[in-house]
Amino acid sequence: MQRSLLLLCLVLAACAQPTPQPAQPSPKPSESPSALPSAVSSAVPEASATPLLPLSAAEGNLIANPGVEIASGVARPEDWTPDFWGTQSANLAWESSEPFSGKKYLSVSVQDYVEGDAKWIFKAQKLQENSWYEYSDYYRSDGRSRMIWGCSTDSGQRFFRTVWQTHQSKSWAQNKFRFYSSSFRDCNITMMHVLDRNGYLHTDHHQMVKTTPMPLKRPLVSITFDDIWTSSVTVGAAELEKRGWKGSYYITGKYARLPNAPQYAHVDEIKKIMAAGHEIGSHSNTHPLMATLTNNDVIAELQSNYDYLKFLGKTPEGIAYPFGDFSDQVETETKRFHQYARTSLVGLNDRSADPFRLRIVPVTTETTTSELFTWVEDAEKTSTWVIFLFHDLQPGVGDFTYTTPVTQYIQLLDYIERKKLAVVPVNQGLKELKN
Ligand SMILES: [Zn+2]
Repeated sequence: MQRSLLLLCLVLAACAQPTPQPAQPSPKPSESPSALPSAVSSAVPEASATPLLPLSAAEGNLIANPGVEIASGVARPEDWTPDFWGTQSANLAWESSEPFSGKKYLSVSVQDYVEGDAKWIFKAQKLQENSWYEYSDYYRSDGRSRMIWGCSTDSGQRFFRTVWQTHQSKSWAQNKFRFYSSSFRDCNITMMHVLDRNGYLHTDHHQMVKTTPMPLKRPLVSITFDDIWTSSVTVGAAELEKRGWKGSYYITGKYARLPNAPQYAHVDEIKKIMAAGHEIGSHSNTHPLMATLTNNDVIAELQSNYDYLKFLGKTPEGIAYPFGDFSDQVETETKRFHQYARTSLVGLNDRSADPFRLRIVPVTTETTTSELFTWVEDAEKTSTWVIFLFHDLQPGVGDFTYTTPVTQYIQLLDYIERKKLAVVPVNQGLKELKN
């Protein structure tokens, strides 16, 4: 148990927390252009016949030198900085073998990965507050890569959130998502396409532009719990029920079946919240890092917990990935069992939201109450859907990153209630998303 909790902290911290680990500016441009992985050199870029140019600054692109065609020295494009942190061997290069467009692209390759990430960074800048932006690039890679929103304040603080992820694509593919520029602190913002595993990632044709809102008919709030901590079905459920609301509980079957584990709710308590009308979802059978499993093991994790929850009395419409960890293979198999996936990617869900990419606000010991209020206000202002993720609720703050003081939980619920916002379980929110 200790080990899985530790892992949970490690992975979710990397995913969601305003991480205390600064991305150290330790540039390591390649001294000599590295050879492309052989699997890639045979790939034919889709757009090589008529290379598209990314939007220019005059057309609203906030990224300078977006096609990385302009040089600043021998091994580096202007306005881009190579960066990595952690334990790994990273090579950040400016390459020219089969670019998506123009003559150049950015390359990141990593070997001997233990922790950290590597990426090229464009200059952080102030975005217009309370506005929607779309980030896009073209990429090719031999596995998953992540998009991390970076905020640096004028006073020197730094905050990070994992806001999106891409799948393996050996030929150039588009990566595109929307995000809202909240009034969250006074941020200079950059969006980093990072590699945090052994392998390679190439990017080209980068774009960040202001875009139009895609509101829902009304703002929505969901309160969700992962794992099945006892406190979530006692005080967590009681506070929701007091207000006439229903929550969503993503249950790891193995935790519910553990003998002598009073920190987890067991069958009787789970049946009680089912009877009270809360949503029951899956959180896998044994809480593994799903993307590390073989296809058969992914299916077994999904199938056995689906069957278990159904046996207890409710078919789980949705899943919340343990540690927020998924890949294209996990996503594909998930679609065979569930109607949606709640990820650990951070952000608001607007009308464009993908049911298998639902984004959240993780509540950790780092999260302040005013930050929670800002998310509620943002959902209200933009008429979008905010999904809060809790784990354990306790009288005070413990050692566990995912323990939330009950007082903070109640403050959030009171605030939502004062604002008279609709609180719905995730499966209900999904219906409004589709309407
Ligand atoms: Zn979990």
